[in-house]
Amino acid sequence: MKIHEYQARQLLQDAGVPVPGGIVVENAVDAEKAYNELAAKGCTLAVVKAQVHAGGRGKGGGVQLVRDAATCKEKAELILSKNLVTPQTPPEGIPVRKLLIADGVDIDKEFYVAMLMDRKSGKPVMIASSEGGMNIEEVAEKTPHLIIRQTVDPALGLQPYQARELAFAIGFKGKQLGQAVKAMMNLAKLFLSSDASLAEINPLIVTPATEQYPDGQVLAIDAKFDFDDNAMFRQKAIAALGDPSEEDQAELRAQKYDLNFIALDGNIGCLVNGAGLAMATMDIIKLHGEDPANFLDIGGSATEEAVTEAFKIILDDKKVKGILVNIFGGIAKCDTIANAIIVAAKEVGFTIPLVVRLEGTNVKIARELLEKAKADIPTLETATDLTDAAKKITALVG
Ligand code: ADP
Ligand code: MG
Repeated sequence: MKIHEYQARQLLQDAGVPVPGGIVVENAVDAEKAYNELAAKGCTLAVVKAQVHAGGRGKGGGVQLVRDAATCKEKAELILSKNLVTPQTPPEGIPVRKLLIADGVDIDKEFYVAMLMDRKSGKPVMIASSEGGMNIEEVAEKTPHLIIRQTVDPALGLQPYQARELAFAIGFKGKQLGQAVKAMMNLAKLFLSSDASLAEINPLIVTPATEQYPDGQVLAIDAKFDFDDNAMFRQKAIAALGDPSEEDQAELRAQKYDLNFIALDGNIGCLVNGAGLAMATMDIIKLHGEDPANFLDIGGSATEEAVTEAFKIILDDKKVKGILVNIFGGIAKCDTIANAIIVAAKEVGFTIPLVVRLEGTNVKIARELLEKAKADIPTLETATDLTDAAKKITALVG
């Protein structure tokens, strides 16, 4: 589960990582007011930041520096008026509903610090780099030696010596070191206590020297968090930060019926029982030259109602030009699926090709049901095995 930057900043602030102030608004008039509020506290530079569940906003025009209220209003209007396209959004972009009007800060240097789960060691790892800012992906690809890692024992947490090693290695100096170590320690505690799978500060910056901070102040000015969905039952406060308007609507619908659904870009809808079988089904569609429109695992115990909903979700996707049903019935019963196909056909109709491959429990009854239904569902074809099914559906769609 992802959250917005303004929410992530609040979590960091509460955890003791210093963050500049900011005000969340939903329209340009309030953006202007927010600028004036920040200006009244002495701020002479503000940043208008699109709040969306995608990074790379700076590159897409979603982060704008402004030095007066009128420009703040103007930039807010501009960002809210159209979809934001960044390297991390779909090509058509995503709508922007909220803006953060943040205190602008003078930046001496930008760093990168993040904690995430490392699959290889099965442990959390803190990674840090001197090359923070908008090109961190490129740094990781072209100069991976500039990214420093410390594997963290999940029971002990990040140790102070590890944070010191990281902070030193990426070039924090003098009084900055203590500030950076504290920020890293607090970030690590927040990561572990909130069941995060990613807690990223990019950039973590140092300001130029001031009287109060002769070596500069260390501040977090952008943050991205992702949490483990399976832990949200014990993280009520975090779960409440979720923003359904940022989620894929079809995926939300599927969740209600305990269906594991992920929308993809292709044109063949898949309905499968079991995640492994779903992967294999997607692979074989690709092997025969087409692309899957979704990943859908209906699980072992799907009811007729859930399967009917699954068909409706697939059919609502206008990209879908054909459906492949692949059921290898262990716990799921083939006749349940066959009945759901018949119900869905009655309720929504199948005007696109539908190829069904069933095997397993109650398969005889299921095949008989489908044979009879063919009169009412003219686009229905049955297949003898998965290769046969894949060949049929790709030929019909392609
Ligand atoms: P994203 O990572 O989505 O592109 P960021 O919030 O990291 O968005 O902003 C991109 C860049 O904009 C930062 O690397 C930084 O250089 C600048 N920036 C962001 N927030 C501020 C701020 N409060 N003050 C000054 N510059 C900022
Ligand atoms: Mg950033």
